Amino acid sequence: MKIFNTLSRRKEEFVPLEPGKVKMYVCGPTVYNFIHIGNARPMIVFDTVRRYFEYKGYDVNFVSNFTDVDDKIIKKAIEEGVDADTISKRYIEECKKDMAGMNVKPATKHPLATEEICGMLEMIQTLIDKGHAYAAADGTVYFRVKSFKEYGKLSHKNLEDLQSGFREIKVTGEDGKEDANDFVLWKPKKEGEPFWVSPWCEGRPGWHIECSVMSKKYLGEQIDIHAGGEDLIFPHHENEIAQSEAANEKQFATYWMHNAFLNIDNKKMSKSLGNFFTVREISEKYDLQVLRFFMLSAHYRSPLNFSADLMEASKNGLDRILTAMERITELSGKASGDVLTAEELEQEKALNALVEKYEAAMDDDFNTADAISALFEIVKLANTTASEESSRAYVDLLKNEIQKLCDVLGILTEKKKEVLDEEVENLIAARQQARKDKNFALADEIRGKLLDMGIVLKDTREGVKWSRA
Ligand code: AMP
Ligand code: ZN
Repeated sequence: MKIFNTLSRRKEEFVPLEPGKVKMYVCGPTVYNFIHIGNARPMIVFDTVRRYFEYKGYDVNFVSNFTDVDDKIIKKAIEEGVDADTISKRYIEECKKDMAGMNVKPATKHPLATEEICGMLEMIQTLIDKGHAYAAADGTVYFRVKSFKEYGKLSHKNLEDLQSGFREIKVTGEDGKEDANDFVLWKPKKEGEPFWVSPWCEGRPGWHIECSVMSKKYLGEQIDIHAGGEDLIFPHHENEIAQSEAANEKQFATYWMHNAFLNIDNKKMSKSLGNFFTVREISEKYDLQVLRFFMLSAHYRSPLNFSADLMEASKNGLDRILTAMERITELSGKASGDVLTAEELEQEKALNALVEKYEAAMDDDFNTADAISALFEIVKLANTTASEESSRAYVDLLKNEIQKLCDVLGILTEKKKEVLDEEVENLIAARQQARKDKNFALADEIRGKLLDMGIVLKDTREGVKWSRA
């Protein structure tokens, strides 16, 4: 298997640290709002990477954090007049619902930054003891970038270039820094912010130290793969390498994987630009399986432009696979015969060649776009060769292969069952009653249930209107 490693900028053969095992860390979202579909791209991509390793027989330990202490979370908490914890807990729950909708498997562990402060204090102290960090007069602790000779090896930047860049932008409020490149490991609290006691000041951790500490705690000092979106290469991942390798004196991750951006109108989709759709919004229009299929229709290192046309094309493509599966499942129920006929033995060879094609695409840096093309060829083979005359052995062979290959992509092969109008009307009536009773939790729950069934509600002056997504 070959993986493109950002560190070497080359495709490299995958060699695990321990045979048969993969230790993988993916930087997770900062939880102050619903996740947008840009954030969904790394979730879907690296879940697929995990699933393919599992398909190949690896035991995968997959860790992905939630950043639950951050300026944006604190700002939102102040706006709503609640504490930061309320905000982060709420959006972690919402994020988990979106992940389930996109069929993203829960990680082996989802650590929270706020629960790992002790480990952060320890690593910061180690860095100070080894001369890689220092505390300024106000209690801010900085990483001394010059002390780590390999700084810049991931982003392929050198310190001189960075230095001249910084000279032009005078960083204010950071006068205690020895050097403009030094970055924060620990910072003093501000009025009204959550804080923890530390040897340097009451305060909170910088963002980068979180991941170094959580990765070490749950996966050990050395891991196979560290991943995230390409905007994380610098400074986040560069700083993680500096922290982890300076503290542990070992290479941190063997492979660094980064997905390209999901764009809209060919511009990066981001919360700060305001040009984003949340996964929840998309779920009101499409089954989230369609979103998943759309994301995998491009290679993860190619930029992907979001558009209604491409979503429609993905919907049709997915439908082709599900329809074929429905048909062969039906055939399998009726067919008999435990051995392949002579003709089917030939067709089995064609099938095996296509499965090899699929695997070759995935082995080549997880080329899901080409893997999906091979899957379509298998669907075509199923549509043209499986019939009422086929043996059950042959139909089941096709069914099991398509099932396995869809599992790798995280595509559910069963069509959603048709929802009857009457069932919807009854649920809507129950929701109206719950609202009358001021039982808003129940009303929301019913709305959520209807959404899961693909039914979107709209409260209008004339009453509740509903439509199928
Ligand atoms: P954040 O919550 O901003 O830290 O982002 C969480 C993850 O989503 C990181 O891996 C980001 O690189 C990734 N990400 C954010 N926006 C996009 C986008 N438009 N396309 C792809 N990945 C993104
Ligand atoms: Zn991280």
